[in-house]
Amino acid sequence: MLESLTTMRIGAHYSVAGSLEGAVRLAHKAGANTMQIFTASPRMWRASRHGADDIKRLKAARAECDVTPLVSHANYLINLTSADETIRAKSILAFREELFRCLLMGVDYLVVHPGNYKDQPLEAAIGAAALALSEAAQGVPESPLMVLLENTAGQGASLGSRVEEVAAIRSLVDGQLPYRVGYCLDTCHAHAAGLDFVEAASKLGFENVPVIHTNDSKNPRGSRVDRHDNIGKGHLGEAAFRAILTHPELRNKAFILETPFDNDGDDARDIAELKRLAGA
Ligand SMILES: [Zn+2]
Ligand SMILES: [Zn+2]
Repeated sequence: MLESLTTMRIGAHYSVAGSLEGAVRLAHKAGANTMQIFTASPRMWRASRHGADDIKRLKAARAECDVTPLVSHANYLINLTSADETIRAKSILAFREELFRCLLMGVDYLVVHPGNYKDQPLEAAIGAAALALSEAAQGVPESPLMVLLENTAGQGASLGSRVEEVAAIRSLVDGQLPYRVGYCLDTCHAHAAGLDFVEAASKLGFENVPVIHTNDSKNPRGSRVDRHDNIGKGHLGEAAFRAILTHPELRNKAFILETPFDNDGDDARDIAELKRLAGA
């Protein structure tokens, strides 16, 4: 049991507002051995890149603290399915920049939401997302980076609240891009969308889901509202997380918290909680 615990990857989302290296050290101090970051501001179109020295120190700190995999979450403004030509063009450009930043920084997984399909039939939106991914990948070198389509809570017209939707996007682009495509499954989003988490992961193929966003849900099952809660405090509860963390097909995944960290130590507490439930 001890051995399997040490090989588990449990971490959280950290801000890189200070420095990339500083974020790794904060994560390590809180007990994390994997982490998620934004490689640029998540709510601005214009992105600045981190300097070469900052990236070098990031890599050294990761090696020293054994923080792996490194996950990046794409900018929230990106909407690859948009029917609006301006938004679509900006989204493709921004996603392309995300890819290049990830390659420079040695990011292992880039998580992106499939988008919002207001004013379009579902099938057109799925096709638009696949086309946008292809366009954004033009000229991007081949790499071990994996892009992960994240399931959504189904709020408004968000694409990806059903496993069939993310699977359909992947099937249109898989094998045709300079990177592999898989899924990031979010426990809160799955709950809000009325899905059974393990069943959803199984349908997508456990091997295609390397990262799990591990969030409790402030709202009940099927609410379609995306509000994260701290582990054990929401509608998923301890039993659901224990079942996920101890599932033999899921134990080798990277578990990333995106729960509210309002006070110092909240991250360490949720990380410790996941470790406790994983070992129980
Ligand atoms: Zn998430
Ligand atoms: Zn969410």
